[in-house]
Amino acid sequence: MSGIYIHIPFCRKKCLYCDFYSIGARNAPWNTLVDSLLAEAYSRAAELARPPRTLYIGGGTPSLMPADQFRRLVSGLRAIFDCTRLEEFTVEVNPEDVDTGLVDQMAEAGVSRASMGIQSFSDSELRAIGRRHTAACAIEAYGLLRKLGNVSIDLIFGLPDQDIDRWQDNVAEALRLHPEHISAYSLMWEPGTPLELLRSQGRRSEVPEELSAEMFATLSVMLRAAGYEQYEISNYALPGYRSRHNSSYWQGLPYLGLGPGAHSYDGVRTRRANPADILRYTRHFAAIPANPFYEEEVLTDDELREEYLLTRLRTREGFPISEFLARFGRQPLQNLLTAARPHADAGRLRLDSDRIALTQAGIMVSDTIISDLF
Ligand code: SF4
Repeated sequence: MSGIYIHIPFCRKKCLYCDFYSIGARNAPWNTLVDSLLAEAYSRAAELARPPRTLYIGGGTPSLMPADQFRRLVSGLRAIFDCTRLEEFTVEVNPEDVDTGLVDQMAEAGVSRASMGIQSFSDSELRAIGRRHTAACAIEAYGLLRKLGNVSIDLIFGLPDQDIDRWQDNVAEALRLHPEHISAYSLMWEPGTPLELLRSQGRRSEVPEELSAEMFATLSVMLRAAGYEQYEISNYALPGYRSRHNSSYWQGLPYLGLGPGAHSYDGVRTRRANPADILRYTRHFAAIPANPFYEEEVLTDDELREEYLLTRLRTREGFPISEFLARFGRQPLQNLLTAARPHADAGRLRLDSDRIALTQAGIMVSDTIISDLF
C-alpha cells in the first residue's frame, strides 16, 4: 500500500490561526506550479515501489485551482503513475469555493472523497479565527458535495469565547449533516500567527484546559452515540469510511509528497521534506527537473521507535506486541511493557497478550501516556 500527497500552497487569505505553508493566491502562478508538480512527480515516480492506493490533494486550498489546471494536474498524475488500483482520491475544499461547477469537475476527475474545512457552524466563531465562509455557506457547500458520496468535515474546538453549549451545538449540527467522516482538533495557538498576536494584545482568549478537555470528551460521546467510530484520536468515521490515506500515515506505510512543503516517507526509515518555498520550488523544477529538491533525514533506531509509538498509539487498534518485538528487539519491548504497566492498571491502556492500545479513558490523556512510553 502506498499513497501520494500533493501540496497546493495557495489560499485566498491566511486564516488567523494557520501555520501551514501557504501564501496568498492573488496572481498565483498556477501553470508554473502544475508544471513543477508534474516534473517532480515524473522525477520521483520510482520512489513508490507499488502503484498508489490513495491520492490526496491538500494544502493550502486546492479548491482554488482553476479548472483547466486541476484537470491538467490530475491527468498528468494518471499518466505518470499506475492509478488503476486507486482506492481513494481526496481533495480538500473550502466552503466558499464550492459550487456545482467545482463538484462536477471533481467528479469527472475521479475524486471519490471531499474534505471540507468547516471548523464551526457559528458565524461569530468563524470570524474570530479569520475564516471567510459563513455557516450557511458551509451547509450549502456540504449539500453540493454530497454528489461525491463521501464527505469529511473538519471542526475545531476551543475557539475563542466558545463555551460547552456552543460546542455541543456545533457537534449537533455536524451530526444533522451526517457526513461519512469528521475530524476535530483543538485550536492550536501557534507562535507567530496573527491569532497568537491578538491573544498577546488581550483581543482573543484561550479556553481553559479543563474546558477544552470537556469539549473533546463531549465530542467523543456524541459522535460515538451517533454511530461514528473514533478510529484515531481526532478522527471519527461511519463504518467503512475511515480515511485510507491518513490511516497509511499512522500505519507507517510509504507515501510520496509532492509540492513545496510536502513530506514523504519510504516506509522504512527515510523521511524527505521539500522546502516550503514556492519560488525556489518552481525555479528548481524549471532548471533541473531531474534533480531532487528535498532534504533527507534517515531516522535513528530511537527516532524510529518514538515515531512508531506516536503514530500507532493514536489509532484505535494500537499495535501488536510481536511486531514491536520484531522491529525493535527484546530490551526496548521490556522497557515499553514496564512503562505501560501503570497505565494498564489504571485502565488507560489495553494490554492484551499481543496488543497494546489506548482505552477510551487513555485517548483523553494520550499525550501523557505516549510520552511516558518513549
Ligand atoms: S484555508 Fe486552511 S491552509 Fe489556508 S490559511 Fe486557512 S487554515 Fe491555513
